Amino acid sequence: MIVEISNLEVVYTGAAGSLKVLDVPEWTVHRGEQVALFGASGSGKSTLLHVISGLLPATSGRVSICGDELSSMGEAARDHFRARHIGYIFQSFNLLEGYTAVENVLLGMAFSGTRPDRGFAAALLSELGLGDRLNHRPSQLSFGQQQRVAVARSLANKPELILADEPTGSLDPSRAQDVLDRLRDLCKQHGCTLIIVSHEAAIIEQFEQSVPFLELNRAFAKAGGSL
Ligand code: ADP
Ligand code: MG
Repeated sequence: MIVEISNLEVVYTGAAGSLKVLDVPEWTVHRGEQVALFGASGSGKSTLLHVISGLLPATSGRVSICGDELSSMGEAARDHFRARHIGYIFQSFNLLEGYTAVENVLLGMAFSGTRPDRGFAAALLSELGLGDRLNHRPSQLSFGQQQRVAVARSLANKPELILADEPTGSLDPSRAQDVLDRLRDLCKQHGCTLIIVSHEAAIIEQFEQSVPFLELNRAFAKAGGSL
């Protein structure tokens, strides 16, 4: 088991009061699986990925990822955990503009404690069809190419688990399909588990395992499908 969640709650507290965004009684993902989470905008999908990656602490409950108990870790330990185990792909790429494609991938290795491996970074980009774009900066690449760089970066530190948050949401359908296919192939090839979240049926229906977020997250269901 690579993800084991039980009795997870996340409550956001701010000036406007507190809002329970996640209430997940139970969720598990097996190693090597490719799982799609399907849910409307605002249903708490990104919040769940933030908890799984250790970016956000759970308010209560048990979150065990890659065999590590995140609920008992402080922020520094969670940062270290994330660098060692997790690859993260954002909808909006989050590439650094001052750096080339290959440097952006190298930055994905920078915090994991392993030596940056330019050969591996270049090989990943080549596998993604960007072998002739290694030294281009993000502004010199198309959106589809930028997202492929982000896919390469997410694999840079050889993570056990990739979390992809609407990774094709900014792409037109044919580019989106291309990025999704390459991401899924690379995860298989590198033995990486994949959790992808999306609100797009065309993406979700391609996965053998898809989980409706409404069933997973009782907070969202209780709020009547709108938080
Ligand atoms: P999704 O990714 O499914 O669109 P999110 O996880 O981003 O959903 O957000 C779920 C709910 O939590 C939304 O109602 C959003 O307004 C709220 N929310 C997200 N982040 C915060 C935050 N940092 N503080 C307070 N509320 C938040
Ligand atoms: Mg989101």
